[in-house]
Amino acid sequence: MSKRDYYEVLGVDRGVSGKDLKKAYRRVAMKFHPDRNPDDAQAEEKFKEANEAYEVLSDEQKRSAYDQYGHAGVDQQGGFGGGGGGGDFGDIFGDVFGDMFGGGGGRRQRGPQRGSDLRYTLQIDLEQAVKGTTAKIKIPTLVSCDPCGGSGAKKGSAPVTCTTCNGAGQVRMQQGFFAVQQACPTCHGKGKMIADPCNSCHGQGRVEETKTLSVKVPAGVDTGDRIRLSGEGEASPDGGAPGDLYVQMSVRQHPIFERDGKHLYCEVPISFVDAAIGGELEVPTLDGRVKLKIPAETQTGKMFRIRGKGVAPVRGGSAGDLMCKVAIETPVSLTKKQKELLEEFQASMEGTDTKHSPRKSSWFDGVKSFFDDMK
Ligand SMILES: [Zn+2]
Ligand SMILES: [Zn+2]
Repeated sequence: MSKRDYYEVLGVDRGVSGKDLKKAYRRVAMKFHPDRNPDDAQAEEKFKEANEAYEVLSDEQKRSAYDQYGHAGVDQQGGFGGGGGGGDFGDIFGDVFGDMFGGGGGRRQRGPQRGSDLRYTLQIDLEQAVKGTTAKIKIPTLVSCDPCGGSGAKKGSAPVTCTTCNGAGQVRMQQGFFAVQQACPTCHGKGKMIADPCNSCHGQGRVEETKTLSVKVPAGVDTGDRIRLSGEGEASPDGGAPGDLYVQMSVRQHPIFERDGKHLYCEVPISFVDAAIGGELEVPTLDGRVKLKIPAETQTGKMFRIRGKGVAPVRGGSAGDLMCKVAIETPVSLTKKQKELLEEFQASMEGTDTKHSPRKSSWFDGVKSFFDDMK
């Protein structure tokens, strides 16, 4: 029997793109898939044919040989070599159908299930985040049942093979055209049943418990960072490894400092005298105080950088800086004497705005020309 043209088998043009080829193969293979056509030899033949055509046309080298020499070109290369070719079959099949049939054969003989991972949000203060801390947390979880050792079967008895699925954990169900594998409804995929359930866990093998754990928080963590505690998640339902616990960091707002990555920001109120003639003040840091020199003629809003007084990042690298933004504070509750001094001071400034208050005078100039333009 002579072989059909591969392009014809898949119903595509000779210039077909790899993507369209895959689509066409998928369509044909689905139509003739043995699961949809049980005991239909002709469909099975067509399915194999489509598979063979796709195997050749999806391989650039084989496809060009086929385009040049036809079937002789690829048979010579040993592409399929007669009726066999089973080895390649699985790979292509997994590639194209993997997303539809849930990932190939490995699933049927799966081992015990891993316990679920848990997530916990841990709130800490900025100081704790920067310096590191150890936190005690309480989490409700499922732990392996002690009396039965997690088997779910009463002491002295053992789980028995499920009679519905004969221990496979999966059953075949017909759904319209499709025959699909489903977790066995009797044993929920475990393949085993508990004939004589343990009194403590009622056959579940796990019991609810609130675990107290101590979490080491490394210095430098920030909101959103996660710490994984391996094996501290839920116990496995069937003797597998436990899940992990992910502790998510959430750093509380600080009354003085605002954090942005490794830098800290704060606002420092200064007197207008310090701002005018310069001065020195102490500003708080997370581990004490540092002196900050205010140079003469400092304007409000100016930012001063204190190097290395920010946060040392948890992933390493140099510590960030502390940024101090100064805000000039207008004096309040002045005495009569103080007011007089200020009035005297004000009088001394009369008519010297351009010299002593350049911003103010240029602002008023701007306002004046704004009104002049409107006339
Ligand atoms: Zn079963
Ligand atoms: Zn138990």
